[in-house]
Amino acid sequence: MKHFKTITVTIIAVLVSLFIADVAFMNALYNSIKERYIDDVEQCLRRADLIELIDRVNTAGYADENGVIELWLGLQRSDIGAAKTPEDLRRLRYSQGYKRMDRQLISVVNNYLYNTYGDLGTPDTELLAEAFRRELNFSGYFPTEVVIIKEGTHYEPTGSLWCITDRVEGQLLTTAYISPLARNVLNEMSGIIVINAAIAFILALAFWYLLHVISTQRTIEEIKDDFINNMTHELKTPIAIAYAANDSLLNFPDPRNQARTRKYLSAALEQLSKLSGLVENILAMSMERRKNIPLDKEDIPLKEFIESIIENHKIKIDKEYTITLECPEGSKVTADPTHLSNILSNLIDNSIKYSTEEVTIKIKANNHYITVSDNGIGIPEKYQPVIFEKFFRVPSGNRPQQRGYGIGLYYVKSIVEKHGWQIEVTSEPGNGTTFKIKFGKE
Ligand code: ADP
Repeated sequence: MKHFKTITVTIIAVLVSLFIADVAFMNALYNSIKERYIDDVEQCLRRADLIELIDRVNTAGYADENGVIELWLGLQRSDIGAAKTPEDLRRLRYSQGYKRMDRQLISVVNNYLYNTYGDLGTPDTELLAEAFRRELNFSGYFPTEVVIIKEGTHYEPTGSLWCITDRVEGQLLTTAYISPLARNVLNEMSGIIVINAAIAFILALAFWYLLHVISTQRTIEEIKDDFINNMTHELKTPIAIAYAANDSLLNFPDPRNQARTRKYLSAALEQLSKLSGLVENILAMSMERRKNIPLDKEDIPLKEFIESIIENHKIKIDKEYTITLECPEGSKVTADPTHLSNILSNLIDNSIKYSTEEVTIKIKANNHYITVSDNGIGIPEKYQPVIFEKFFRVPSGNRPQQRGYGIGLYYVKSIVEKHGWQIEVTSEPGNGTTFKIKFGKE
Protein backbone atom coordinates (compact mmCIF):
# COMPACT_ATOMS: atom_id res chain seq x y z
CA MET A 1 0.00 0.00 0.00
CA LYS A 2 2.99 2.28 -0.53
CA HIS A 3 1.18 3.65 -3.55
CA PHE A 4 -1.75 4.94 -1.51
CA LYS A 5 -0.48 8.51 -1.70
CA THR A 6 0.09 8.28 -5.47
CA ILE A 7 -3.39 6.83 -5.99
CA THR A 8 -4.99 9.54 -3.85
CA VAL A 9 -3.11 12.32 -5.62
CA THR A 10 -3.97 10.85 -9.05
CA ILE A 11 -7.64 10.54 -8.17
CA ILE A 12 -7.78 14.09 -6.83
CA ALA A 13 -5.95 15.34 -9.96
CA VAL A 14 -8.41 13.46 -12.21
CA LEU A 15 -11.38 14.85 -10.28
CA VAL A 16 -10.04 18.41 -10.39
CA SER A 17 -9.30 18.15 -14.16
CA LEU A 18 -12.77 16.75 -14.80
CA PHE A 19 -14.25 19.56 -12.75
CA ILE A 20 -12.28 22.22 -14.65
CA ALA A 21 -13.21 20.68 -18.03
CA ASP A 22 -16.82 20.54 -16.92
CA VAL A 23 -16.85 24.18 -15.84
CA ALA A 24 -15.24 25.20 -19.17
CA PHE A 25 -17.81 23.17 -21.11
CA MET A 26 -20.71 24.66 -19.14
CA ASN A 27 -19.33 28.13 -19.65
CA ALA A 28 -19.03 27.59 -23.43
CA LEU A 29 -22.56 26.21 -23.54
CA TYR A 30 -23.86 29.17 -21.52
CA ASN A 31 -22.17 31.64 -23.88
CA SER A 32 -23.46 29.95 -27.02
CA ILE A 33 -27.05 29.95 -25.70
CA LYS A 34 -26.58 33.55 -24.59
CA GLU A 35 -25.44 34.50 -28.12
CA ARG A 36 -28.55 32.93 -29.59
CA TYR A 37 -30.70 34.86 -27.12
CA ILE A 38 -28.96 38.13 -27.94
CA ASP A 39 -29.56 37.44 -31.61
CA ASP A 40 -33.27 36.96 -30.90
CA VAL A 41 -33.44 40.02 -28.69
CA GLU A 42 -31.75 42.14 -31.37
CA GLN A 43 -34.49 41.10 -33.76
CA CYS A 44 -37.08 42.20 -31.18
CA LEU A 45 -35.37 45.58 -31.06
CA ARG A 46 -35.43 45.84 -34.87
CA ARG A 47 -39.15 45.13 -34.89
CA ALA A 48 -39.74 47.65 -32.10
CA ASP A 49 -37.78 50.29 -34.06
CA LEU A 50 -39.92 49.59 -37.12
CA ILE A 51 -43.15 49.81 -35.12
CA GLU A 52 -42.08 53.16 -33.64
CA LEU A 53 -41.04 54.54 -37.04
CA ILE A 54 -44.31 53.45 -38.70
CA ASP A 55 -46.11 55.28 -35.90
CA ARG A 56 -44.10 58.42 -36.59
CA VAL A 57 -44.70 58.18 -40.36
CA ASN A 58 -48.42 57.84 -39.60
CA THR A 59 -48.45 60.84 -37.25
CA ALA A 60 -46.58 62.92 -39.86
CA GLY A 61 -49.43 62.21 -42.29
CA TYR A 62 -47.59 60.08 -44.84
CA ALA A 63 -50.08 57.24 -44.57
CA ASP A 64 -53.41 57.17 -46.42
CA GLU A 65 -56.78 57.50 -44.67
CA ASN A 66 -56.61 53.81 -43.62
CA GLY A 67 -53.16 54.25 -42.07
CA VAL A 68 -51.50 52.39 -44.93
CA ILE A 69 -47.99 53.43 -45.96
CA GLU A 70 -47.09 52.42 -49.43
CA LEU A 71 -43.65 50.96 -49.99
CA TRP A 72 -41.86 50.29 -53.21
CA LEU A 73 -39.34 47.54 -52.64
CA GLY A 74 -37.25 45.49 -54.98
CA LEU A 75 -36.55 42.17 -53.27
CA GLN A 76 -33.87 39.80 -54.34
CA ARG A 77 -34.19 36.13 -53.64
CA SER A 78 -31.23 36.38 -51.29
CA ASP A 79 -32.90 39.25 -49.39
CA ILE A 80 -35.48 36.94 -47.94
CA GLY A 81 -33.22 33.88 -47.68
CA ALA A 82 -35.20 31.90 -50.24
CA ALA A 83 -33.63 28.68 -51.38
CA LYS A 84 -32.30 28.29 -54.89
CA THR A 85 -33.35 24.68 -55.39
CA PRO A 86 -35.93 22.36 -53.76
CA GLU A 87 -32.96 20.44 -52.20
CA ASP A 88 -31.73 23.66 -50.59
CA LEU A 89 -35.20 24.29 -49.27
CA ARG A 90 -35.44 20.83 -47.82
CA ARG A 91 -32.08 21.25 -46.13
CA LEU A 92 -33.11 24.57 -44.57
CA ARG A 93 -34.69 24.06 -41.17
CA TYR A 94 -38.02 25.87 -40.84
CA SER A 95 -36.99 28.11 -37.96
CA GLN A 96 -33.73 29.03 -39.70
CA GLY A 97 -35.53 29.94 -42.91
CA TYR A 98 -38.27 31.79 -41.10
CA LYS A 99 -35.87 33.72 -38.90
CA ARG A 100 -33.73 34.68 -41.82
CA MET A 101 -36.69 35.90 -43.87
CA ASP A 102 -38.08 37.82 -40.91
CA ARG A 103 -34.71 39.48 -40.36
CA GLN A 104 -34.11 40.31 -44.01
CA LEU A 105 -37.58 41.65 -44.63
CA ILE A 106 -37.53 43.81 -41.54
CA SER A 107 -34.11 45.18 -42.34
CA VAL A 108 -35.08 45.94 -45.97
CA VAL A 109 -38.28 47.68 -44.82
CA ASN A 110 -36.38 49.48 -42.07
CA ASN A 111 -33.72 50.70 -44.49
CA TYR A 112 -36.33 51.92 -46.94
CA LEU A 113 -38.36 53.77 -44.31
CA TYR A 114 -35.30 55.35 -42.70
CA ASN A 115 -33.96 56.44 -46.05
CA THR A 116 -37.32 57.89 -47.01
CA TYR A 117 -38.72 59.27 -43.73
CA GLY A 118 -35.65 59.21 -41.46
CA ASP A 119 -35.85 62.93 -40.66
CA LEU A 120 -39.30 62.80 -39.07
CA GLY A 121 -38.30 64.35 -35.72
CA THR A 122 -37.13 62.61 -32.55
CA PRO A 123 -38.26 59.08 -31.84
CA ASP A 124 -40.70 58.34 -29.05
CA THR A 125 -38.50 56.37 -26.67
CA GLU A 126 -41.40 55.49 -24.40
CA LEU A 127 -43.31 53.90 -27.25
CA LEU A 128 -40.14 52.22 -28.44
CA ALA A 129 -39.48 50.76 -25.00
CA GLU A 130 -43.07 49.54 -24.78
CA ALA A 131 -42.91 47.95 -28.24
CA PHE A 132 -39.57 46.37 -27.43
CA ARG A 133 -40.87 44.95 -24.18
CA ARG A 134 -43.93 43.54 -25.95
CA GLU A 135 -41.82 41.92 -28.67
CA LEU A 136 -39.58 40.41 -25.99
CA ASN A 137 -42.59 39.02 -24.14
CA PHE A 138 -43.97 37.50 -27.36
CA SER A 139 -40.64 35.74 -27.84
CA GLY A 140 -40.76 34.38 -24.30
CA TYR A 141 -38.32 36.79 -22.61
CA PHE A 142 -39.31 38.75 -19.52
CA PRO A 143 -36.39 40.99 -18.44
CA THR A 144 -37.10 43.07 -15.33
CA GLU A 145 -35.22 46.09 -16.69
CA VAL A 146 -35.42 47.53 -20.21
CA VAL A 147 -33.60 50.79 -21.08
CA ILE A 148 -33.67 52.36 -24.54
CA ILE A 149 -30.90 54.74 -25.55
CA LYS A 150 -31.38 56.78 -28.67
CA GLU A 151 -28.46 58.13 -30.56
CA GLY A 152 -27.00 61.19 -28.89
CA THR A 153 -28.18 60.32 -25.36
CA HIS A 154 -25.79 59.19 -22.68
CA TYR A 155 -26.42 56.30 -20.33
CA GLU A 156 -24.07 54.63 -17.89
CA PRO A 157 -25.23 51.02 -17.55
CA THR A 158 -25.05 49.54 -14.07
CA GLY A 159 -24.26 45.95 -13.13
CA SER A 160 -24.25 43.24 -15.71
CA LEU A 161 -26.99 44.42 -18.12
CA TRP A 162 -26.93 42.92 -21.62
CA CYS A 163 -26.30 45.49 -24.38
CA ILE A 164 -28.36 45.13 -27.58
CA THR A 165 -27.99 47.28 -30.71
CA ASP A 166 -29.90 47.96 -33.90
CA ARG A 167 -28.08 49.34 -36.94
CA VAL A 168 -29.36 50.52 -40.26
CA GLU A 169 -26.83 50.11 -43.03
CA GLY A 170 -24.06 49.95 -40.49
CA GLN A 171 -25.15 53.08 -38.65
CA LEU A 172 -26.11 52.73 -35.02
CA LEU A 173 -29.79 53.47 -34.57
CA THR A 174 -30.80 52.28 -31.15
CA THR A 175 -28.99 50.84 -28.16
CA ALA A 176 -30.93 48.94 -25.51
CA TYR A 177 -29.95 47.48 -22.18
CA ILE A 178 -31.87 44.64 -20.61
CA SER A 179 -31.37 42.77 -17.37
CA PRO A 180 -29.58 39.50 -18.13
CA LEU A 181 -31.72 36.60 -19.25
CA ALA A 182 -29.52 34.25 -17.27
CA ARG A 183 -32.54 32.50 -15.82
CA ASN A 184 -33.80 31.64 -19.34
CA VAL A 185 -30.36 30.37 -20.29
CA LEU A 186 -30.07 28.32 -17.11
CA ASN A 187 -33.58 26.94 -17.61
CA GLU A 188 -32.55 25.73 -21.01
CA MET A 189 -29.40 24.24 -19.53
CA SER A 190 -31.17 22.71 -16.54
CA GLY A 191 -31.36 19.19 -18.01
CA ILE A 192 -27.69 19.11 -18.78
CA ILE A 193 -26.81 20.69 -15.42
CA VAL A 194 -28.79 18.04 -13.53
CA ILE A 195 -27.26 15.16 -15.54
CA ASN A 196 -23.81 16.69 -15.09
CA ALA A 197 -24.25 17.11 -11.35
CA ALA A 198 -25.52 13.54 -11.05
CA ILE A 199 -22.52 12.17 -12.96
CA ALA A 200 -20.12 14.29 -10.88
CA PHE A 201 -21.80 13.10 -7.69
CA ILE A 202 -21.68 9.42 -8.68
CA LEU A 203 -18.06 9.79 -9.79
CA ALA A 204 -17.03 11.51 -6.56
CA LEU A 205 -18.89 8.87 -4.55
CA ALA A 206 -17.20 6.04 -6.47
CA PHE A 207 -13.77 7.59 -5.95
CA TRP A 208 -14.50 8.22 -2.29
CA TYR A 209 -15.54 4.60 -1.86
CA LEU A 210 -12.40 3.43 -3.65
CA LEU A 211 -10.20 5.53 -1.38
CA HIS A 212 -12.13 4.37 1.66
CA VAL A 213 -11.62 0.70 0.73
CA ILE A 214 -7.93 1.26 0.00
CA SER A 215 -7.43 3.12 3.27
CA THR A 216 -9.26 0.40 5.26
CA GLN A 217 -7.12 -2.23 3.58
CA ARG A 218 -4.04 -0.24 4.44
CA THR A 219 -5.03 0.04 8.10
CA ILE A 220 -5.76 -3.69 8.28
CA GLU A 221 -2.44 -4.41 6.62
CA GLU A 222 -0.61 -2.25 9.18
CA ILE A 223 -2.51 -3.79 12.08
CA LYS A 224 -1.75 -7.27 10.78
CA ASP A 225 1.96 -6.52 10.50
CA ASP A 226 1.92 -5.10 13.98
CA PHE A 227 -0.06 -8.02 15.26
CA ILE A 228 2.24 -10.65 13.79
CA ASN A 229 5.29 -8.90 15.23
CA ASN A 230 3.82 -8.63 18.72
CA MET A 231 2.22 -12.04 18.67
CA THR A 232 5.45 -13.80 17.75
CA HIS A 233 7.01 -12.21 20.80
CA GLU A 234 3.99 -13.12 22.94
CA LEU A 235 4.12 -16.76 21.87
CA LYS A 236 7.80 -17.05 22.55
CA THR A 237 7.58 -16.17 26.26
CA PRO A 238 5.29 -19.00 27.47
CA ILE A 239 7.13 -21.47 25.26
CA ALA A 240 10.46 -20.39 26.78
CA ILE A 241 9.13 -20.63 30.37
CA ALA A 242 7.50 -24.05 29.85
CA TYR A 243 10.61 -25.23 28.07
CA ALA A 244 12.89 -24.08 30.88
CA ALA A 245 10.68 -25.66 33.56
CA ASN A 246 10.58 -28.96 31.71
CA ASP A 247 14.27 -28.84 30.96
CA SER A 248 15.27 -28.35 34.56
CA LEU A 249 12.97 -31.18 35.71
CA LEU A 250 14.48 -33.52 33.13
CA ASN A 251 18.12 -32.58 33.61
CA PHE A 252 18.13 -31.94 37.33
CA PRO A 253 15.43 -34.21 38.76
CA ASP A 254 15.11 -34.23 42.54
CA PRO A 255 12.49 -36.90 43.48
CA ARG A 256 12.70 -35.87 47.15
CA ASN A 257 11.71 -32.31 46.49
CA GLN A 258 8.03 -32.75 45.59
CA ALA A 259 7.29 -29.07 46.11
CA ARG A 260 9.88 -28.02 43.52
CA THR A 261 8.58 -30.52 40.97
CA ARG A 262 5.04 -29.32 41.56
CA LYS A 263 6.03 -25.69 41.24
CA TYR A 264 7.80 -26.27 37.91
CA LEU A 265 5.01 -28.41 36.50
CA SER A 266 2.36 -25.82 37.53
CA ALA A 267 4.40 -23.08 35.89
CA ALA A 268 4.64 -25.13 32.69
CA LEU A 269 0.91 -25.93 32.82
CA GLU A 270 -0.03 -22.30 33.36
CA GLN A 271 2.12 -21.19 30.44
CA LEU A 272 0.72 -23.91 28.21
CA SER A 273 -2.85 -22.93 29.04
CA LYS A 274 -1.97 -19.31 28.27
CA LEU A 275 -0.48 -20.48 25.00
CA SER A 276 -3.58 -22.50 24.16
CA GLY A 277 -5.79 -19.45 24.85
CA LEU A 278 -3.65 -17.32 22.56
CA VAL A 279 -3.70 -19.93 19.82
CA GLU A 280 -7.49 -20.23 20.10
CA ASN A 281 -7.84 -16.46 19.75
CA ILE A 282 -5.61 -16.42 16.70
CA LEU A 283 -7.37 -19.32 15.06
CA ALA A 284 -10.77 -17.76 15.66
CA MET A 285 -9.68 -14.87 13.49
CA SER A 286 -9.74 -16.82 10.30
CA MET A 287 -13.19 -16.76 8.80
CA GLU A 288 -12.89 -20.34 7.59
CA ARG A 289 -12.01 -21.51 11.02
CA ARG A 290 -14.78 -19.37 12.50
CA LYS A 291 -17.35 -21.29 10.49
CA ASN A 292 -15.83 -24.63 11.28
CA ILE A 293 -14.87 -24.31 14.94
CA PRO A 294 -15.73 -27.73 16.30
CA LEU A 295 -17.67 -27.59 19.56
CA ASP A 296 -17.43 -30.44 21.99
CA LYS A 297 -20.48 -29.70 24.06
CA GLU A 298 -21.33 -31.14 27.45
CA ASP A 299 -23.44 -30.16 30.46
CA ILE A 300 -21.36 -27.87 32.63
CA PRO A 301 -22.14 -27.21 36.30
CA LEU A 302 -21.68 -23.46 36.25
CA LYS A 303 -20.86 -22.79 39.90
CA GLU A 304 -17.88 -25.14 40.16
CA PHE A 305 -16.74 -24.31 36.66
CA ILE A 306 -16.62 -20.55 37.22
CA GLU A 307 -15.12 -20.94 40.70
CA SER A 308 -12.16 -22.82 39.26
CA ILE A 309 -11.62 -20.14 36.59
CA ILE A 310 -11.69 -17.46 39.29
CA GLU A 311 -9.11 -19.41 41.33
CA ASN A 312 -6.75 -19.56 38.33
CA HIS A 313 -7.07 -15.83 37.83
CA LYS A 314 -6.48 -15.00 41.47
CA ILE A 315 -2.99 -16.48 41.17
CA LYS A 316 -1.96 -14.01 38.52
CA ILE A 317 -3.82 -10.78 39.45
CA ASP A 318 -1.16 -8.21 40.23
CA LYS A 319 -3.41 -5.52 41.76
CA GLU A 320 -5.91 -5.11 44.58
CA TYR A 321 -9.01 -7.08 43.70
CA THR A 322 -12.35 -8.46 44.82
CA ILE A 323 -14.03 -11.14 42.79
CA THR A 324 -17.49 -12.36 43.72
CA LEU A 325 -19.68 -15.02 42.19
CA GLU A 326 -23.43 -15.26 42.51
CA CYS A 327 -24.65 -18.52 41.10
CA PRO A 328 -27.51 -20.71 42.33
CA GLU A 329 -26.50 -24.24 43.20
CA GLY A 330 -27.23 -26.66 40.33
CA SER A 331 -27.13 -24.05 37.54
CA LYS A 332 -25.82 -25.50 34.34
CA VAL A 333 -25.34 -24.87 30.66
CA THR A 334 -24.57 -27.02 27.65
CA ALA A 335 -21.34 -25.72 26.12
CA ASP A 336 -17.84 -26.54 25.01
CA PRO A 337 -15.90 -26.30 28.30
CA THR A 338 -12.59 -25.21 26.73
CA HIS A 339 -14.20 -22.40 24.79
CA LEU A 340 -16.47 -21.32 27.66
CA SER A 341 -13.44 -21.17 29.90
CA ASN A 342 -11.60 -19.08 27.29
CA ILE A 343 -14.56 -16.72 26.98
CA LEU A 344 -14.78 -16.09 30.70
CA SER A 345 -11.00 -15.78 31.01
CA ASN A 346 -11.00 -13.16 28.26
CA LEU A 347 -13.74 -11.15 30.01
CA ILE A 348 -12.08 -11.40 33.43
CA ASP A 349 -8.66 -10.53 31.95
CA ASN A 350 -10.18 -7.44 30.33
CA SER A 351 -11.84 -6.38 33.61
CA ILE A 352 -8.45 -6.58 35.28
CA LYS A 353 -6.59 -4.88 32.43
CA TYR A 354 -9.02 -2.02 31.92
CA SER A 355 -9.39 -0.92 35.56
CA THR A 356 -7.46 1.34 37.92
CA GLU A 357 -5.35 0.19 40.90
CA GLU A 358 -8.24 -1.61 42.57
CA VAL A 359 -10.72 -3.78 40.77
CA THR A 360 -14.03 -5.31 41.80
CA ILE A 361 -15.37 -8.01 39.53
CA LYS A 362 -18.87 -9.40 39.99
CA ILE A 363 -19.88 -12.51 38.15
CA LYS A 364 -23.48 -13.69 38.09
CA ALA A 365 -24.58 -16.89 36.45
CA ASN A 366 -27.71 -19.01 36.19
CA ASN A 367 -29.42 -21.27 33.69
CA HIS A 368 -30.19 -18.28 31.43
CA TYR A 369 -27.16 -16.02 31.41
CA ILE A 370 -23.73 -15.10 32.74
CA THR A 371 -22.73 -11.50 33.45
CA VAL A 372 -19.24 -10.23 34.17
CA SER A 373 -19.22 -6.70 35.65
CA ASP A 374 -16.36 -4.52 36.73
CA ASN A 375 -15.80 -1.06 38.14
CA GLY A 376 -13.11 -0.25 35.56
CA ILE A 377 -12.54 2.61 33.15
CA GLY A 378 -15.60 1.80 31.03
CA ILE A 379 -16.08 2.10 27.27
CA PRO A 380 -17.33 5.34 25.64
CA GLU A 381 -20.73 4.89 24.05
CA LYS A 382 -19.54 5.52 20.50
CA TYR A 383 -17.11 2.59 20.69
CA GLN A 384 -19.51 0.10 22.24
CA PRO A 385 -20.96 -1.14 18.91
CA VAL A 386 -17.49 -1.85 17.48
CA ILE A 387 -15.52 -3.41 20.33
CA PHE A 388 -16.34 -6.92 19.06
CA GLU A 389 -14.75 -6.19 15.69
CA LYS A 390 -11.50 -7.85 14.74
CA PHE A 391 -8.44 -5.77 15.81
CA PHE A 392 -10.53 -2.98 17.31
CA ARG A 393 -9.10 -1.32 20.40
CA VAL A 394 -10.50 1.74 22.16
CA PRO A 395 -7.94 4.58 21.77
CA SER A 396 -6.17 4.93 25.10
CA GLY A 397 -5.90 8.74 24.99
CA ASN A 398 -3.77 9.93 27.91
CA ARG A 399 -3.83 6.61 29.74
CA PRO A 400 -0.90 4.24 29.27
CA GLN A 401 -1.76 1.74 26.54
CA GLN A 402 -2.47 -1.79 27.82
CA ARG A 403 -0.98 -4.68 25.94
CA GLY A 404 -3.44 -6.32 23.59
CA TYR A 405 -4.37 -7.03 20.00
CA GLY A 406 -8.08 -6.35 19.78
CA ILE A 407 -8.97 -9.97 19.13
CA GLY A 408 -10.18 -11.15 22.57
CA LEU A 409 -13.74 -9.85 22.25
CA TYR A 410 -13.85 -10.89 18.60
CA TYR A 411 -13.08 -14.43 19.71
CA VAL A 412 -15.64 -14.19 22.55
CA LYS A 413 -18.39 -13.09 20.16
CA SER A 414 -17.47 -15.76 17.59
CA ILE A 415 -17.79 -18.53 20.15
CA VAL A 416 -20.90 -17.08 21.76
CA GLU A 417 -22.62 -17.00 18.36
CA LYS A 418 -21.34 -20.45 17.50
CA HIS A 419 -23.19 -21.71 20.59
CA GLY A 420 -26.32 -19.87 19.41
CA TRP A 421 -26.07 -17.42 22.30
CA GLN A 422 -25.97 -13.62 22.37
CA ILE A 423 -23.60 -11.15 23.98
CA GLU A 424 -24.24 -7.54 24.89
CA VAL A 425 -22.30 -4.81 26.61
CA THR A 426 -23.41 -1.97 28.87
CA SER A 427 -20.83 0.47 30.03
CA GLU A 428 -20.35 3.88 31.51
CA PRO A 429 -16.96 5.56 31.22
CA GLY A 430 -15.46 5.91 34.69
CA ASN A 431 -17.99 3.58 36.32
CA GLY A 432 -17.44 0.19 34.78
CA THR A 433 -18.57 -2.31 32.24
CA THR A 434 -20.89 -5.32 32.17
CA PHE A 435 -20.82 -8.06 29.57
CA LYS A 436 -23.88 -10.29 29.47
CA ILE A 437 -23.99 -13.63 27.69
CA LYS A 438 -27.55 -14.81 27.16
CA PHE A 439 -27.95 -18.54 26.60
CA GLY A 440 -31.33 -18.26 24.96
CA LYS A 441 -34.39 -16.06 24.87
CA GLU A 442 -35.06 -14.92 28.45
P1 ADP B 1 -7.55 -6.16 23.70
O1 ADP B 1 -7.90 -6.22 25.14
O2 ADP B 1 -6.50 -7.12 23.31
O3 ADP B 1 -7.29 -4.79 23.23
P2 ADP B 1 -10.28 -7.06 23.22
O4 ADP B 1 -10.92 -7.53 21.96
O5 ADP B 1 -10.30 -7.99 24.36
O6 ADP B 1 -8.82 -6.63 22.83
O7 ADP B 1 -11.00 -5.71 23.65
C1 ADP B 1 -11.21 -4.70 22.69
C2 ADP B 1 -11.20 -3.34 23.38
O8 ADP B 1 -12.37 -3.20 24.18
C3 ADP B 1 -10.05 -3.15 24.33
O9 ADP B 1 -8.93 -2.61 23.66
C4 ADP B 1 -10.60 -2.19 25.37
O10 ADP B 1 -10.38 -0.86 24.95
C5 ADP B 1 -12.09 -2.46 25.36
N1 ADP B 1 -12.52 -3.26 26.53
C6 ADP B 1 -12.75 -4.58 26.55
N2 ADP B 1 -13.17 -4.98 27.79
C7 ADP B 1 -13.21 -3.87 28.54
C8 ADP B 1 -13.57 -3.60 29.91
N3 ADP B 1 -13.97 -4.57 30.76
N4 ADP B 1 -13.50 -2.31 30.36
C9 ADP B 1 -13.11 -1.32 29.52
N5 ADP B 1 -12.76 -1.51 28.23
C10 ADP B 1 -12.80 -2.76 27.74
